[in-house]
Amino acid sequence: MGIVVQKYGGSSLADADAIKRVARRIVDIKKAGHDVVVAVSAMGDTTDDLLDLANGVSPLPPAREMDMLLTAGERISMALVAMAISDLGYTARSFTGSQAGVITDSVHGKAKIIDVTPGRITQAIGEGHIVIVAGFQGVSADTKEITTLGRGGTDTTAVALAAALEADVCEIYTDVDGVFTADPRIVPSARKLDRVSYEEMLELAACGAKILHLRSVEYGRRYGVPIHVRSSFSQLEGTWVVNDPKPSAPSQGDTMEQPIIAGVAHDRSEAKITVVGVPDKVGEAARIFEALADAQINLDMIVQNVSAAATSLTDISFTLPRTDGQTAMTALARIQAEVGYDKLLYDDKIGKVSLIGAGMRSHPGITSKFFGALASAGVNIGMISTSEIRISVIVDENAVDDAVRATHTAFELDADEVEAVVYGGTGR
Ligand code: ASP
Ligand code: MG
Repeated sequence: MGIVVQKYGGSSLADADAIKRVARRIVDIKKAGHDVVVAVSAMGDTTDDLLDLANGVSPLPPAREMDMLLTAGERISMALVAMAISDLGYTARSFTGSQAGVITDSVHGKAKIIDVTPGRITQAIGEGHIVIVAGFQGVSADTKEITTLGRGGTDTTAVALAAALEADVCEIYTDVDGVFTADPRIVPSARKLDRVSYEEMLELAACGAKILHLRSVEYGRRYGVPIHVRSSFSQLEGTWVVNDPKPSAPSQGDTMEQPIIAGVAHDRSEAKITVVGVPDKVGEAARIFEALADAQINLDMIVQNVSAAATSLTDISFTLPRTDGQTAMTALARIQAEVGYDKLLYDDKIGKVSLIGAGMRSHPGITSKFFGALASAGVNIGMISTSEIRISVIVDENAVDDAVRATHTAFELDADEVEAVVYGGTGR
């Protein structure tokens, strides 16, 4: 039988007992006749603890050393899981990302996988071993340095390994039963999705649903890896992320239409910067966004006001990850004289709420219903952006929960009975 790739997150590996439980699950798959390759995250909150430690030592730790530090978390997990497996009478070999052939570019802290050369993995499989790979890390082809893939990157390790090994499935084990129509921590009546398309999952992940690392979904779509998101705390079937989410054979007489909305996502990790008083002439926006690109800032929403005719000045606002806020402000301050803008405003008390669904394409009236729900909940909209299958709004940080609940209800996504169980962990 084929290869099964599994990923276990930090909350599934919180302590020795949890690790033994995971080892038993892994061995069960092996017993069923599959070859098993497992990507593991750091135990519990280890990565956060290591980050705190680093910041205690230095306010600006060098990126290279940060990666050396953080990758230690996954190394601890991989060795312990391998030990627990050997205690069950099976043999396991653990590999660091570098040993496993996860080749990346050289950007510390958010490296991209550019190739996977899993020679040592296939050899170990051939020798009958279960393979455990440290997630979230790789080695740069150019610099030969150890890199990390960004927070939550173990999902991407798993999907990349599944693609390279042509695995039958990539199972992502987490602390909820699958992908829900909203975060069950905010909306207890959220429903589990049985299937969701890559494109919807991409939007959900990009809009703050913490269930899958964005790049893992991109990778899965590119290589057609079926991803099964499920809980390591239950045996329930989870959510399948696949190409065609429609049920293949609608039951008789039933118009099994694809639901219009897949879910409501929210994100509290962004900040908003406004460049006030930008001269309204050709090339100014280009100059501003060039400076941000040079500083490696990923922008999200961008809004430019109509310039006030009297002053011919305009304001440009955009959102970006809060963690990049300082870097962006510094980069913009440097070009103030050149661009001739007035001042910069920084606001990190914002949140983003997004409505996502492939069915939106063919259904008018979604936007008005969404905005109507926000209005009834007394939520003010700061910025708006849309894609073909998504509408996002920026709201006050404190209004996020109300906005999510109101939207979820307006689109009749609430389950009659509570389905969502959160088994613990921190939501990562
Ligand atoms: N341990 C890393 C993190 O917490 C990677 C991961 O969990 O996937 O971000
Ligand atoms: Mg983690």
